[in-house]
Amino acid sequence: MAIQELTPAQARQRQQQGVRLIDVREAHERVTGMAEGADGIDRATLEAAPQRHAPDRDAPLLLICQTGRRSMQTADALAALGYTALASVAGGTSAWQAEGLPTVLPDGDIDLDFHERYSRHLKLPEIGLAGQQRLADARVLVIGAGGLGSPAAYYLAAAGVGTLRIADDDVVDRSNLQRQILHAEDRIGLPKVASAATTLTGLNPRTRIEAVAERVTSANVDRLLEGVDVVLDGADNFPVRYLLNDACVLHGVPLVYGAVHRFEGQVSVFDAGRARGQRPCYRCLFPEPPPPEAAPNCSEVGVLGVLPGVIGLLQATEVLKLLLGLGEPLSGRLLQFDALRMQFRQIRLAPDPECPVCAEGRTFRGYIDYAAFCAAG
Ligand SMILES: [Zn+2]
Repeated sequence: MAIQELTPAQARQRQQQGVRLIDVREAHERVTGMAEGADGIDRATLEAAPQRHAPDRDAPLLLICQTGRRSMQTADALAALGYTALASVAGGTSAWQAEGLPTVLPDGDIDLDFHERYSRHLKLPEIGLAGQQRLADARVLVIGAGGLGSPAAYYLAAAGVGTLRIADDDVVDRSNLQRQILHAEDRIGLPKVASAATTLTGLNPRTRIEAVAERVTSANVDRLLEGVDVVLDGADNFPVRYLLNDACVLHGVPLVYGAVHRFEGQVSVFDAGRARGQRPCYRCLFPEPPPPEAAPNCSEVGVLGVLPGVIGLLQATEVLKLLLGLGEPLSGRLLQFDALRMQFRQIRLAPDPECPVCAEGRTFRGYIDYAAFCAAG
């Protein structure tokens, strides 16, 4: 049996004569508006149990989707099951709306804000409703609301990470504004975490900000990691990096590392805590920090303003992948970026079987507070 294709106006006319219209799109698509009077039953549900949703196989039935393709396919599937009076709306809801026919928002307790805000994620089958829910349930610890933490936290909040715990004991300085995009001119002198909370809540009020105006030390690192799924190191200084590394190995939390210097940056994922002996930690590369006198005084080193943006967003990308279980994490690889040459280079990192912290069977030796010699970038 050939399926009839109707224009939206024709379908509307039939509908007014009492013919039933079913919108076969997914619930998250219907929240942006559906043809007035239509019943929302997504295609999979309808095809799985058509007798339940449309018991009379000889009663005329109109189907509509977004563009007219899925409704046609659904009609084909129903015809094969013995339905005899099917029609599909050509051009779907898009055409229906374009022709100015009436639409309504679906009833029920569908969270319109959630579905609108994350619609571009929900359209990705790799994320979808389940993935977006996972992000909403996640808590990420962002160390530093500076050059790396700013772009990273900005996009993580936009993407829908449910809770961002941000730790930074610094205040906003005018020299920060060249790259630390969470802050603003009128917040100079305010705590960075307060400024960050203002910006992030303005962007996405659904994201909960846990502002911690503290420097990371051995005394508070366990507390900071409590209930955290992933740690993003945006502090870019040695004492914090080693402390976070050791704590993340101890607690089995992946650490997304980033660093910038002048025109170059690098990023990696250290996930030794969840895979001892299989993935490296930061100490597998550099067992101990350099002596303070050998390290540059970071507050005096320049950095190209966009560079932390590039590196911070690579870190945020890895955080999202880890939370969603997507793709291949940058674990066991160090990605280096050279802005002047516009080149990426990748170095393989192997776990060190003698690593003082993450080697298999190694017992935790306690935290070490190294002397601070490099302020947050
Ligand atoms: Zn290690």
